[in-house]
Order: sequence, then C-alpha cells, then structure tokens
Amino acid sequence: MTLPPGATIGILGAGQLGRMLAGAAIRLGFRVHILAPEDAAPARATCHAYTRADYGDAGALSAFAAACDVVTVEFENVPVAAVEAIAAAGVPVRPNGRALAVAQDRAEEKRFLEAAGLVCAPWRPVDSLADLEAAAAAIGPKAILKTRRQGYDGKGQRRLDAGSDLAEAWQGLSGAPAILEAHVAFEMEISVLIARDGEGARITYTPPQNHHAMGILRRSRVPAPLPGAVVEEAKALAGQLADQLDYIGVLALEFFVVSGRRLIANEFAPRVHNSGHWSVEACETCQFENHIRAVAGWPLGDPALRFPAEMENLIGEDAEAPVADLLSRGRLTLYGKQAARPGRKMGHLVRRLAP
Ligand code: AMP
Repeated sequence: MTLPPGATIGILGAGQLGRMLAGAAIRLGFRVHILAPEDAAPARATCHAYTRADYGDAGALSAFAAACDVVTVEFENVPVAAVEAIAAAGVPVRPNGRALAVAQDRAEEKRFLEAAGLVCAPWRPVDSLADLEAAAAAIGPKAILKTRRQGYDGKGQRRLDAGSDLAEAWQGLSGAPAILEAHVAFEMEISVLIARDGEGARITYTPPQNHHAMGILRRSRVPAPLPGAVVEEAKALAGQLADQLDYIGVLALEFFVVSGRRLIANEFAPRVHNSGHWSVEACETCQFENHIRAVAGWPLGDPALRFPAEMENLIGEDAEAPVADLLSRGRLTLYGKQAARPGRKMGHLVRRLAP
C-alpha cells in the first residue's frame, strides 16, 4: 500500500508525539485525523480533524476508521481492542496490535525480547507477596519491582534493597501484577531508534546516550560514546526485534550498557520516542518523518547524523524560564501545554555539539 499525498493518516493519541507526527505528515501533504479522549491536548491544534472520544467508544472508532486511510498510534497504552476494531473495519493499523500488546505488559515484553535473542536483566513475574519473596530470594536483594502495565517515566516502580520490607513494597503497588527485575549497575543507557517499512526494509539512527533523573528522561546526547562494534550490535538487535514484531513504523529499544560492551535490553516503545527528538535538527530525515513514511508505504529516508547533538527536556517549571533564556540555550520546541505540573514534559531544546 502506497498512500498518495492528500490521503488521511489517523493518529490515536494527542500528546506531543502526536503533535510532532502530525507536523511531519502535514509537511508531506497528508491530512491528519486524531482521535483522543482529551479536550485540550498538544496535537489538537495540529490536525485537520479531531474526534474527542474514549478509546472504547465503538461508534467513534468506526467513524474514525471510515475517515482514515491508515491509522497509527502516538503512545503505547492505546487499548489493543481499539486498534483491533479499526483493523477489523479494513483500515490498516501500523504498528500492528501485537506490537502494542507486547509492549503494554512488561512480562510479555521481556519474554518477547528474550525469544528474539536479546538479553534482559534477570526477572520473575510477581502476582503475590509469596511470588515476590521467592523472586527476591532468586534474584537478590537489589532489584526493582515494576507493575506489568501502565508504568512509564518511572511510575509504578519500587526500588528494593537488602533492608526493604517486601510486604510494604507489594502493598505499595496495590497488588497490581508486577515483575521483579534485578538492578543493573549500568555504565550507560542508550536507545536505538529504528524504522521498518512494510517490505521489511529498515533504517537505524545513531544511538544516543540517555540520562534519566527520577525515572524521567532528562537529556539525550548523540552519538553515545561507544565502540563501533557495540553500536552495530545494538542496531542489529533492534533490527531483530522489529523483524520479529513484523513492525511498520519507528520503534525505540532501550539498553543498559555494562562492562563497556554488554547490552542488556530494558524495554521498547512501539512509537516515536523522546530520546530521538534531536533527529529533527541533527538528521537528514527525522524520526517523525520516517514514521509517517513507513506508515504511508513511502520509501524510508536517510537517518544520517549531520552533527553531534544534545536534547534537553524541559520538565515542569523548566519551561517557565524567560523565553529569551530558553531560546539562547538551543533550538526550542514547546508542546503547547497549559499547566506546567511537576514531572510534566513541556518541551525540549536541541543544541549542536562540537564534533
Ligand atoms: P523503565 O520505566 O523501566 O524504563 O525505567 C526508567 C528508568 O529507571 C530507566 O531508564 C533506568 O534509568 C532505571 N531503571 C529501570 N530498570 C532498571 C534496572 N533493572 N536497573 C537499573 N536501573 C533501572
């Protein structure tokens, strides 16, 4: 399927990723129709049509499907049933519902990553306090308890240590199904952004090094300071994952790097990713454009890095600095969000680094 310019790309979700995807789609001459439950959302201002509806609203999904030539997603927690309803109406959804289903459940995700040949930190599913005690005995005291579903930006996580009260940790997650994962003493976190088209052709971006604070991405610097062989291995592993998922679009795979070269897969996001925002300024073809090209059946664009770059997230009150100050610190993107709540991603800066 190759969509002609003027065709309509549907996006489920209306956050900043949807806003930047819509911008790329409009630049290439597409129409953009967004469905999301929010009234005020970053992408509402950047689309031709906006359906405000819950993802479970069958009537709204059916009308949305009828209005779109292809549908994609801007966040991974879109209910799989919504994606399946659109696909059942005969409208392709890219990436497919299976990729979303796997990414929505940390246990399924780990199993899938391991089956695809990647190495994850030791982990165990945890559905009860007894499971947690057994898992802690097997994995060791330094570990992270993570809810299987709905965790992002460090939410739904509890760090455990030798002195931790397991019962309290288990209650802290309100008994939600979880996994216990060994703590990884990593030297570096990196991510690989890869785009794959409907014929299986792939392009891979130069991996950035990512710095998190309190579980939230603060900055990404590209290229990550790693030997070429490690970079090539990380790219190859992302390719294996994308192939196994029969994936169409951009996905981001996060790794911990240990001992300078071992790659431990953390998680993947079936969508464009915050750690790739520098690609707009620093690459021949950015992640948003390549996602839209893949989804539309267009040839993928060159991901080559034109210069080393750093992306800094503006989180909460960071974005309340005087505009002149923000502008002096890099190329500014703001997401159009009204309230700067703590921990909320409001925008980002990208600057060119000396080679
Ligand atoms: P996640 O939501 O799983 O990506 O976790 C958010 C961040 O917490 C990661 O980017 C790491 O900085 C940290 N983190 C998560 N899992 C582990 C782990 N097993 N060992 C060490 N740090 C971790």
